[in-house]
Amino acid sequence: MKSIELIIHTIRQVLSGKQLIDNTHKYRIMSLAAAFIHLIFCIVMGQIGANILCYYNIFVVYLYCFMGIMLTNRKKFRLIMVLFFIEVEFHSVFASLLLGWEWGFMLYTIALIPAAFYLANSLANRSKHIAYAIGLSAFVIVIYFLASVMQPHVRPVYDWIDSPVAREGMRFLNIVIAFFLQLAFSALFALETKYMEQLLEKENVKLGIEASYDPLTRLLNRRSMTRFMSDELELSNDTPRKCCLVMLDIDDFKHINDTYGHDIGDKVLVTLADLLTEEVRAGDYTCRWGGEEFLLLIHGDKQETYFVADRIRRKLEETSLKNKYDGTFNVTATFGVAEYRDFMPLRSIIDEADEKLYYGKNHGKNQVVM
Ligand code: GH3
Ligand code: MG
Ligand code: MG
Repeated sequence: MKSIELIIHTIRQVLSGKQLIDNTHKYRIMSLAAAFIHLIFCIVMGQIGANILCYYNIFVVYLYCFMGIMLTNRKKFRLIMVLFFIEVEFHSVFASLLLGWEWGFMLYTIALIPAAFYLANSLANRSKHIAYAIGLSAFVIVIYFLASVMQPHVRPVYDWIDSPVAREGMRFLNIVIAFFLQLAFSALFALETKYMEQLLEKENVKLGIEASYDPLTRLLNRRSMTRFMSDELELSNDTPRKCCLVMLDIDDFKHINDTYGHDIGDKVLVTLADLLTEEVRAGDYTCRWGGEEFLLLIHGDKQETYFVADRIRRKLEETSLKNKYDGTFNVTATFGVAEYRDFMPLRSIIDEADEKLYYGKNHGKNQVVM
């Protein structure tokens, strides 16, 4: 019961383009379906007395079972594909020459072209898949024309089989199977393309996110912060809403790296980033501006921003950080606050926050300069 549910679920996923059929299942289903079709041929040929074709089909049923089980388990997909093409071509020509063109066996050769492109597309060596598909298609076309040139000059071996029911029935079956093959391979191709498109879309979204954030601290990076700041500051023009930028820089960070190592230095950056994220309100922005420098966009006036910055400064100063040797240490940071004035260029407000920060660096560090 569970396995039937699983199969139905998988089919649904494949049909909605959410899952790809892996090569093992693809080649197994294809080979075993071919074995089944040849079993039907074998029975029909036995019934009408076309013994050579009956024996040939017995052999082919074994061959497809071998391909669907042994070769598929060994992942010999390219070999399966080539054997499949050779067998279908050979069978089409062989059956047409023995029984006659009007039995419809040559239809399979035409139906094989979408299969050539679909199957070659799933080969590991992707750079060659179009060349493979074109090669297989050319093989199919050449065989078709050679057979049609030969056919008027060859008398069918089984010309004594004079059963219109068998002939028309077989032709109808061949038409149905040939259409089904074209439809199945084309539909599978379309579904795989849909899956790939969805995958690409997801990857694009992921890449967009990756490109906006700093990988270590998961804060906005300089590029995306610049974009957000431009938008936010422009929005606050002509409105009573105030905005401030806070530029902060860890004090003596080089010394921390030199004393405790780069890994501990990285942990300090992450700890500070987490603290910034916790302390700012929703709607404010936190960014790793570069190295050990961070930039905040706070919605509020100078005074409010000063309180936020000073709270962060105090919390950072009080945070005990673990070094490699079971001891602890503390870090401090210096902050520069600049308030946005209508239509002020972005560069100017960043420079102003930077100047205040460096004023603080030169006047004892560990402070907020407004
Ligand atoms: P100041 O108090 O004047 O800011 O001194 P400082 O030592 O903090 O400043 P300085 O500019 O001399 O050194 C900054 C250091 O930050 C040097 C650099 O190796 C380190 N740094 C930059 N990015 C990273 C990083 O991603 N990880 C670590 N561990 N260190 C970094
Ligand atoms: Mg520093
Ligand atoms: Mg610095």
